[in-house]
Amino acid sequence: MRRRDFLALTLGTLGAVGCAAIRESSVKTRSGSLAKAQYPLPPARSIEPPAQNPAAISDEEQARLNALEEEEIANNILEDGIGAQGATPKDHLTITQNVGALKPIVAEGKEFELLKATFDRLNAVQKHIGFGNFNVISFDAMISVAKASKPVGAFTEDELEYLEKLFFRDAKEYGFFGSKVTDKLTESIAQKEIFKVPRTGHYLYQGQAAKVYESVKKDIGDTIVMTSGVRGVPKQFHLFLAKTLECKGDYSEASHSLAPAGYSYHGIGDFDVGKVGYGEKNFTQEFAKTKEYEKLMQLGYIAIRYPRGNPYGVYFEPWHVEVV
Ligand SMILES: [Zn+2]
Repeated sequence: MRRRDFLALTLGTLGAVGCAAIRESSVKTRSGSLAKAQYPLPPARSIEPPAQNPAAISDEEQARLNALEEEEIANNILEDGIGAQGATPKDHLTITQNVGALKPIVAEGKEFELLKATFDRLNAVQKHIGFGNFNVISFDAMISVAKASKPVGAFTEDELEYLEKLFFRDAKEYGFFGSKVTDKLTESIAQKEIFKVPRTGHYLYQGQAAKVYESVKKDIGDTIVMTSGVRGVPKQFHLFLAKTLECKGDYSEASHSLAPAGYSYHGIGDFDVGKVGYGEKNFTQEFAKTKEYEKLMQLGYIAIRYPRGNPYGVYFEPWHVEVV
């Protein structure tokens, strides 16, 4: 019998999942300079290291753009729900699994220090280029941005090796049994294939994802909104490492509520939705109690990527819409 057959996740009715909550504060404290010239990002433009365009924008214009982005994201429910899944006690959750077959993988000692340093650097890149741009930046562009920015500073060899190691590790070792959606660490997202959804700080793929979201908005109305869209490899690293830090270095526990980089369907089309004004609860089981969720399920054309009792080693995510 394969290991996945041993794994079953069962949730109580109030169950929210994941490790203790921390909130991302990067959007509010962002203070990058050069990269602001890139925001808001027109769909047809490629994301290149901003250092190539240093003097393109005045301080006033930059302040105006910052305010615009702040306003956009403030109107949104939440940046991306890091930590939200841990917002209610974990004892509502029961995981049964063959413990002999799956020993948690935990970063300790030097590796934990490297995890923290790498997360800090990713976080600094996000602050520097802005939340929206960071959602879709490629690994290579991220490296260039860091190198060109004094406040961020270049990724060290150790940090890059660490990210590479994480990317190519088989996530089944963590107890995560979803498919890998990209084998390419340096995968880049073609700007012409995506567009920015107003007032969310997030992007969607043209085509099926856009069609599904448009239909959902039309059928449910203004009380439902996208809470996370397209995410490139660096963004997924950022989220996964944030979650792993909350879990005190436990990659296995983190992977039950956040796909490791390369394994997220946000990379190829899936998106999350939430109820307007519902805050962090949108990324908890509480979302399943809302009218919006009820309506979503009644539409008939919506599938949830990680339903209750799914075989992927992932907690129930009522907010995550399957597109691909
Ligand atoms: Zn999601």
